[in-house]
Amino acid sequence: MLLPLLLLLPLCWAVEVKRPRGVSLTNHHFYDESKPFTCLDGSATIPFDQVNDDYCDCKDGSDEPGTAACPNGSFHCTNTGYKPLYIPSNRVNDGVCDCCDGTDEYNSGVVCENTCKEKGRKERESLQQMAEVTREGFRLKKVLIEDWKKAREEKQKKLIELQAGKKSLEDQVEMLRTVKEEAEKPEKEAKEQHQKLWEEQLAATRAQREQELAADAFKELDDDMDGMVSLTELQTHPELDTDGDGVLSEAEAQALLSGDTQTDATSFYDRVWAAVRDKYRSEALPTDLPAPSAPDLTEPKEEQPPVPSPPTEEEEEEDEEAEEEEEEEEEEGSEEAPPPLAPPQPASPAEEDKMPPYDEQTQAFIDAAQEARNKFEEAERSLKDMEESIRNLEQEISFDFGPDGEFAYLYSQCYELTTNEYVYRLCPFKLVSQKPKLGGSPTSLGTWGSWAGPDHDKFSAMKYEQGTGCWQGPNRSTTVRLLCGKETMVTSTTEPSRCEYLMELMTPAACPEPPPEAPTEGDHDEL
Ligand code: CA
Ligand code: CA
Repeated sequence: MLLPLLLLLPLCWAVEVKRPRGVSLTNHHFYDESKPFTCLDGSATIPFDQVNDDYCDCKDGSDEPGTAACPNGSFHCTNTGYKPLYIPSNRVNDGVCDCCDGTDEYNSGVVCENTCKEKGRKERESLQQMAEVTREGFRLKKVLIEDWKKAREEKQKKLIELQAGKKSLEDQVEMLRTVKEEAEKPEKEAKEQHQKLWEEQLAATRAQREQELAADAFKELDDDMDGMVSLTELQTHPELDTDGDGVLSEAEAQALLSGDTQTDATSFYDRVWAAVRDKYRSEALPTDLPAPSAPDLTEPKEEQPPVPSPPTEEEEEEDEEAEEEEEEEEEEGSEEAPPPLAPPQPASPAEEDKMPPYDEQTQAFIDAAQEARNKFEEAERSLKDMEESIRNLEQEISFDFGPDGEFAYLYSQCYELTTNEYVYRLCPFKLVSQKPKLGGSPTSLGTWGSWAGPDHDKFSAMKYEQGTGCWQGPNRSTTVRLLCGKETMVTSTTEPSRCEYLMELMTPAACPEPPPEAPTEGDHDEL
């Protein structure tokens, strides 16, 4: 296409219109040598022989288009074979070749080679190359558009499938939830039963131990071994003092015996033991040993086991209250309380407090419930994954990938450019980052914001915003300019102003539709 036109061009150039030096073809009719010359601004009319006489007559310099006489004049080079050009007239005969046809240096002794043909050839070559890139890029762009059309249809199909599958998966999750809840009922019951039995056993053991402790204490107190503990016998244990004077008076002893003068073993346990157990110090034990605190019955009190002479609820509570009061006193340090009784331990509390393993039936319920839980949770996870896939697909399908979706292929890609210092990474529609070349964590230069080209060319630039904050400055942001090219690559990254980055991405998707014919070079004498 281009070639026949180029062949025709010399014919056009061959037409030479006679005109004064430095005058363009379009202006030549102003310079008619048969008439006086009127300055182009109309400021004066002069005889024609004062045109180009190297003396400035017109204010606008129009009488000296071919000399350097007027400071504001301009000289026109025809530059046949290349582009015509106006230069300031002070460059005429200044010894420097400004016009490629060399016409500005007609009287300076400098010989200018005519480089217009060469320049024109190079220009045409580069234009041809650019046109070729655009054509090829545009061809690729059409392929990209077709690809996305297909991919989008597939994604839409997939989305519909997923949405349908989601409904049945939701039903399944609900079904598995019911199964799980059903399986958890017997599990809960069996576990509670197991717990209850264990607590009962624990309580029985503790009651048993209390009885033994009480019996031992009784035996110790009963000095004359008549099967009764008298006031006097009780008074041999001054640590039981209740008013803090260090002596257990007879009245205090009687109060401890609920007003009686003596007590037998049964009523000692029933009525006295609770009030004295924590103060009572066994004669058989060294007194300076720190005593472990009495086992605390933390289990629910409602159902106490049917053990011989169980403590009533009331006594139990009183017991606890007494303990609490004593603890408070100790904390306050108001009194030098003797260390509490150290009861002989039949088994270590840790061992005793440990719940025995579940029986076979309970374990079977637990296993069944656990399996139901696992299945339910697995289905729930699948549902969440599916929902995420649906969200991602919906987002991708509805994304603005350009007028015909030509930019869609960039969506799940990343492109890098390595400079001396950094590795820049652009993941279109997602983010831009910068990482030191020699390792270190990446800095965000922004996440996808919007298309940011001018109104008539919106898809020529992208904006990435809200990157890592600059020290005492704004958040980093990046503008990505899209350039037509056959390949997709980041071609440059700069920081034109602080924390504002500019990146160039070459992509076929940015190639415009080429004109039907390559632009022609001609003897357009005018701009
Ligand atoms: Ca003149
Ligand atoms: Ca010159």
